[in-house]
Amino acid sequence: MQSKLFEKLKILADAAKYDVSCASSGSNRKNHNGGLGNASQMGICHSYTEDGRCVSLLKVLLTNYCIYDCAYCISRKSNDVKRTAFTVNELVELTVNFYRRNYIEGLFLSSGIFKNADYTTERLVRVAKLLRTEHKFNGYIHLKIIPDCSPELIKEAGLYADRLSVNLELPTDKSLKKIAPEKSHQQVYLPMNHLKEEIIQNREEKKLFKKAPLFAPGGQSTQIVVGASPESDQTILQLSASLYQKQQLRRVYYSGYIPITTDHRIPTLKAPPLIRENRLYQADWLMRFYGFSANEILDNQHPNLDLQIDPKLAFALRNLQHFPVNINKASYEMILRVPGIGVKSAQMIVKARRHGNVKVDHIKKMGIAFNRAKYFIDLPGAIIQQDYTANQIKGNILASTPKFAKQSQLALFP
Ligand code: SF4
Repeated sequence: MQSKLFEKLKILADAAKYDVSCASSGSNRKNHNGGLGNASQMGICHSYTEDGRCVSLLKVLLTNYCIYDCAYCISRKSNDVKRTAFTVNELVELTVNFYRRNYIEGLFLSSGIFKNADYTTERLVRVAKLLRTEHKFNGYIHLKIIPDCSPELIKEAGLYADRLSVNLELPTDKSLKKIAPEKSHQQVYLPMNHLKEEIIQNREEKKLFKKAPLFAPGGQSTQIVVGASPESDQTILQLSASLYQKQQLRRVYYSGYIPITTDHRIPTLKAPPLIRENRLYQADWLMRFYGFSANEILDNQHPNLDLQIDPKLAFALRNLQHFPVNINKASYEMILRVPGIGVKSAQMIVKARRHGNVKVDHIKKMGIAFNRAKYFIDLPGAIIQQDYTANQIKGNILASTPKFAKQSQLALFP
């Protein structure tokens, strides 16, 4: 690779690593007519950097020039960093080249804002269009939409990209005004709503006409920066719940603010709030797969997630009046609320009890975290939680959790 291009790649891949929304679930673009590559339901290969961020090998910015000055961003105009930009053709060639060499399975493309939203989005779309039309590229493409761009460009972007996303960045407009003064939530909601309409319309068209072109089959997602502004986890989760419900987002990504710059508009953090970020992902998971509402996970008395324990355990400890759950009689929804019981095990329990009473030995074989579940279930042989206070249960569970599991945080789930 020419050294000039390599230098660009180094700068623009490094600047892109702060965007965490790079998973590719939900798209199934098939290779046909001798094209190049496939995007499968499993999504692209991705890896994690030391700080826990998900990065794909070709996760780049088109440019790190930016006319905006968002305090949390390394590419903000007032930051003294080396600037560069790919041409559309350079990026297309690079993607195809990397794909052919098996380095990547897709492209995650974002950008700083050159000139204005349309000017930048038009170039992002052109990269995707050239890949799809000239190179018959069937790999995964995730494009960032620049807030405030025109609906025509969004419509075009959806024809070539698997997933589109517009970043909300901060949980409230008030924080945006302070930290990213050129942005507003309205600029983000307009394209988000437009995307939602197009995606719904495309689904209907596909039902009627099998050959109708795909439109963003992987749906849309967004990213919220956590820790750069004072909002509580409760505010963030309520926002996410509304994004899933009203805008029908596939995913909300939480990006623990990385203190890479010093700016009087943001708090001084010693390290990225990664545990908080993980807890938010767990809470998000509870809302998407366990039927929890944001208000069940956090309330005005408990506006922030407990960093010591996962949100499902925290919910159970705050609501001991709903436990123990009788495993042989309770509804599936209630079984799902038992700490230590995941979706698969809850389904297995419901299935198994059709054939007779489920016993401790049975559920131990179902992959349940019994050491945690035993405080919350009503089964002969399990510990009935009435004998313990919430603090005692929490202490016992923390004491019995191996050190490595405590460190890896997500291991504490379900
Ligand atoms: S608009 Fe995007 S790239 Fe530009 S400063 Fe803000 S977050 Fe950074």
